[in-house]
Amino acid sequence: MNHDQSRALYDRALSVMPGGVNSAVRAAIEPYPFFVRKGDGGHVIDADDNRYVDWVMGLGPLLLGHDMPEQVRAAIQRTASEGPMYGAPTELEVDLAEFVTRHVPSVEKIRFVNSGTEATVSAVRLARGHTGRNKIVVMQGGYHGAQESTLVEGDAENPRPSSAGVPQSFAKHTLPVPFNDREAMTDVFDEHGDDIAAVLTEPILGNYGIVHPEDGYHEFLRDLTDEHGALLIFDEVITGFRVGGLGCAQGRFGITPDLTTFGKVVGGGFPVGALGGRDEIMADLAPAGEVFQAGTFSGHPVTMAAGLETLRYAAENDVYEHVDRLGDQLRSGLEEIVADQAPEYTVAGTASMFKVIFTRDGQPPRNAGDVKRAETDRWRRIFWESMLEQEIFLSQNQFECQFVSAAHTEADVERTLEAYAEAL
Ligand SMILES: *Cc1c(COP(=O)(O)O)cnc(C)c1O
Repeated sequence: MNHDQSRALYDRALSVMPGGVNSAVRAAIEPYPFFVRKGDGGHVIDADDNRYVDWVMGLGPLLLGHDMPEQVRAAIQRTASEGPMYGAPTELEVDLAEFVTRHVPSVEKIRFVNSGTEATVSAVRLARGHTGRNKIVVMQGGYHGAQESTLVEGDAENPRPSSAGVPQSFAKHTLPVPFNDREAMTDVFDEHGDDIAAVLTEPILGNYGIVHPEDGYHEFLRDLTDEHGALLIFDEVITGFRVGGLGCAQGRFGITPDLTTFGKVVGGGFPVGALGGRDEIMADLAPAGEVFQAGTFSGHPVTMAAGLETLRYAAENDVYEHVDRLGDQLRSGLEEIVADQAPEYTVAGTASMFKVIFTRDGQPPRNAGDVKRAETDRWRRIFWESMLEQEIFLSQNQFECQFVSAAHTEADVERTLEAYAEAL
């Protein structure tokens, strides 16, 4: 497989961009990432004209794949041709807000922003402003974007910045605990209950392997936060409009969070984020309330058009049936291969999310620590490349999850399973 053009592009990129990329994970592919020329259905074609089955799907946003259905394409083109944006509201924002509030009952009011990061930044500020408290509890290995309040590692006793540039004086307000560990969570609330503004968690960890909540875990979080007057924030940037269809993961689990953050799918492939929740809390956001939040590009008309038509298309067609069915086929095919060839590994995922985790003990991971102890180097250095050589594009490391789109076919699934059987 020839990668000369990608190599030359990366050489140029290294001269003008730190690490040669605009987002850190893209450089995880060694020695250099392939550069994409274009997408085609469930495939991408790189700068050297290699074609891959694409299970990365933009790292989550592309529910429909690379080819937009006619109604989505037409709405995007019409909106863009009328002028990119205005600094004044448009009907499209109201339409998408109505769509989301109609399908996600916990969301009575919503604010659109430009990225998942911006959504969680604003949700954390709102939770602090609403409760008058400082501390945020997060899950170890949870990801909420590149923001000061959540780039924190360690544990609740000893939180510390996970990135240079984040002051320890910020990190001390973030309390990381292991996912699925009720005792650790109870201890944190016993110690800091009066100063905890919110528990912020992905309903399913999707950025550190795929880790599922144990039965009753979210109910436990709901009760504990209620008891202590803290908010429960679901970060549905990945799971929103992917797991549980239009009702999102909270619908699937039957949990009503106080606030929800969205991103990825809700913008139909364009830059987006959103936070939504109970009216009484959302009313604290400026200009209705005292918690400042604003953005030049927020509610961008092209994004609103793309998000709205994508979700309408999903509502009117069998998109979720299709992606969930192919997801099931992938996971059950992978389970057979793993049982046969690598019985200590775990097949994880649900709906249109999937991942093989190279665990060493044959147990599904309960938390990020279990995923971290997996054979992450084998995944990245041996397995990923062997899949690429077979023209299958998987996410860049053991941690990021993979996605089925409406454009994928059973033939893509079969080819992919054959490649796994060869590579594992
Ligand atoms: C991707 C992601 C984010 C960050 O979104 P960006 O648009 O990359 O800023 C936040 N939370 C979760 C759960 C994500 O998967």
